[in-house]
Amino acid sequence: VTTTEVLDHGYVKLIDSMGDDLAIVQAARVSYDQGSKGEVRDKKLIRYLMKNRHTSPFEAVVLKFEIKAPIFVVRQWHRHRTWSYNEVSARYTALPEEFYIPDPGNVGEQSASSKQARDIGQGHSTAALAYCATLQKASEEAFHLYRTAIAAGIPRELARLHLPLNTYTKFEATVDLHNLLHFLRLRLHPHAQHEIRVYADAMLGHIKNVVPWTTEAFLEILL
Ligand SMILES: Cc1cc2nc3c(=O)[nH]c(=O)nc-3n(C[C@H](O)[C@H](O)[C@H](O)COP(=O)(O)OP(=O)(O)OC[C@H]3O[C@@H](n4cnc5c(N)ncnc54)[C@H](O)[C@@H]3O)c2cc1C
Repeated sequence: VTTTEVLDHGYVKLIDSMGDDLAIVQAARVSYDQGSKGEVRDKKLIRYLMKNRHTSPFEAVVLKFEIKAPIFVVRQWHRHRTWSYNEVSARYTALPEEFYIPDPGNVGEQSASSKQARDIGQGHSTAALAYCATLQKASEEAFHLYRTAIAAGIPRELARLHLPLNTYTKFEATVDLHNLLHFLRLRLHPHAQHEIRVYADAMLGHIKNVVPWTTEAFLEILL
């Protein structure tokens, strides 16, 4: 099991996988009842499949991850409906006091050219420093209210309403390689928010070890 740390308390852990580059080759050549034809021809086949959007052979590889991420990142993630998810339940268990505070140098300012993006300049502004400090204080206060409510016997499923969007949560996610590459195309793109892009980048690092030929083709052809 390999873990990549992401943001200030998060991580991506690859906990299981089925298949490799040869499973994709095998799935593609099953059409004419043949398997591997050596590295050069197999790599060429993977590139051909990717270029021509012959996607189903990539579904022969399945990966299972454990991910710890802030709630606002997970909201974006869970829009990807082709994944299977199981998330820790804040009804069953109290969430630990872990929340995301951005690096002040990575706050920037609201973009003038894009309604959804931010512009990062050099260093950090006074506004960014103040924002990070107040976010820290507000998050600590929110967790204090959360713990106080639980101690007073308020049900966990309601006490959690005190918690902010930057609270960390944990989930397991299973996905086939075709849909993972689709996710990576969207979430490694510069238009995606930095905080989900760093998770996509960590996943890319993991799949390089599982399907090196496919990852190489993906970086050249699809990204
Ligand atoms: C930069 C960026 C900005 C975004 N901004 C917003 C926003 O402002 N508001 C917002 O609501 N969302 C936003 N999204 C989310 C986006 O609209 C998609 O919901 C998300 O990226 C998941 O993509 P997907 O549906 O292709 O993935 P998946 O759900 O994994 O689906 C993969 C593919 O399967 C097919 N598919 C899956 N389910 C269906 C279905 N029911 N019917 C038909 N085909 C299906 C489609 O071909 C789809 O592309 C944004 C995404 C990005 C990357």
